[in-house]
Amino acid sequence: MDILIKNGYLIDPKGKKEGRFDILVSKGKVEKISKKINKKTKNIIDAKGKLIFPGLIDIHCHLREPGREDEETILSGSKSAVSGGFTTICCMPNTNPPLDNKVSIRFVYDRGREAFCEVLPIGAITVKREGKLLAPYGEMVKEGAVAFSDDGNCIMDSLVMRRALEYTKLYGKPVISHSEDENLKKNGVMNEGPLSTKMGLRGIPKEAEEIMVARDVFLSNLTGGRLHIAHITTSNAVKLVKEAKRRNKKITCEAAIHHLILTEEAVSGYNPNAKVSPPLRTEKDRKALIAGLKDGTIDCIVTDHAPHSEEEKEMGFEMAPFGMIGFETALSLSMKLLDEGLSLKEIISKFTEGPSRVIGIDRGEIKEGERADIVIFDPDYEWVYKKEEIKSKSKNSPFINWKLKGKVIWTICSGKIVYQMK
Ligand SMILES: [Zn+2]
Ligand SMILES: [Zn+2]
Repeated sequence: MDILIKNGYLIDPKGKKEGRFDILVSKGKVEKISKKINKKTKNIIDAKGKLIFPGLIDIHCHLREPGREDEETILSGSKSAVSGGFTTICCMPNTNPPLDNKVSIRFVYDRGREAFCEVLPIGAITVKREGKLLAPYGEMVKEGAVAFSDDGNCIMDSLVMRRALEYTKLYGKPVISHSEDENLKKNGVMNEGPLSTKMGLRGIPKEAEEIMVARDVFLSNLTGGRLHIAHITTSNAVKLVKEAKRRNKKITCEAAIHHLILTEEAVSGYNPNAKVSPPLRTEKDRKALIAGLKDGTIDCIVTDHAPHSEEEKEMGFEMAPFGMIGFETALSLSMKLLDEGLSLKEIISKFTEGPSRVIGIDRGEIKEGERADIVIFDPDYEWVYKKEEIKSKSKNSPFINWKLKGKVIWTICSGKIVYQMK
């Protein structure tokens, strides 16, 4: 099937292309990018007034399969993802059982065959994510693991983290660290500060994150291993990474979209959907993250899409699990950063060029002869994020009923239209 996209405005930071272009897609690939293409085909998309981006890449999400298929499956998660413009997503291994061996990695690929977008698995760093025994990296890489992480848990044993950084070097895959000292964090449910005191909730100090970011940086320096810091949240952590990256080119880091948009104020009404790990921080931290995106300290924006059932989220703020869903709102929310000093090109780069570099995949660009992963976005479209329209199986989002500007209208993955706004 051919698809001809006409009259759109292309922004492709990795391919260094920007301007009005027509794009012809044929047999799953980008056949031609040109100022004007005239070809008779049944599928012509008039993208006048719309923006065209390479398909977005999310290197941090949770799909809950196997184990909690009531909350999300690889299929339902991918449906949610393409409606938000993502064409490649990397799922974390904290499933039940966890993705800590070749069989479970192959399982994700098998299930991913029917998905709406490409699903790439991240293998666990340690067996059962227990932080003790190193998982078999070689066999997982052979089956297609793109990185390693015990996300949700921090590797508390520094020797285990050291060995993980050493052994993964053999495969050139990054170790993605959920850097949060579990002893300092102990039972905390939100950012520690005047607000947590006022609310009578146990806080998580920023130092819980900063101490572990510092440790991980030192261990990357020691081993030469590829370290990727997940969901950075504090201004001092940004400072640490900025300093570290000057000397160590093997360190990268990410910010989750919710930490860029919300502060701890979002939990002030005890909203369990605003309870995330690491927690939402202060305005000063949020501003530091945006500065970190701007100056290149932060390589990419992720969703940390974390579906949870309503029953679980309704157990009260303290008992509710951490996490919120994110695929369907991430790109639209990121448009809010345009008012805070980031350009559209910079934002798109953090969803395409940045994550492709971190994970080392040849994606995030619209290129002739290559896979056609394309998003068509209406920057002026105003909409309200409604609970009944959520594609994910879970509905845990603090952004429900938010008015958003800018929306994905079409998503094309591997040359197929996988999402079209109704
Ligand atoms: Zn995490
Ligand atoms: Zn996560």
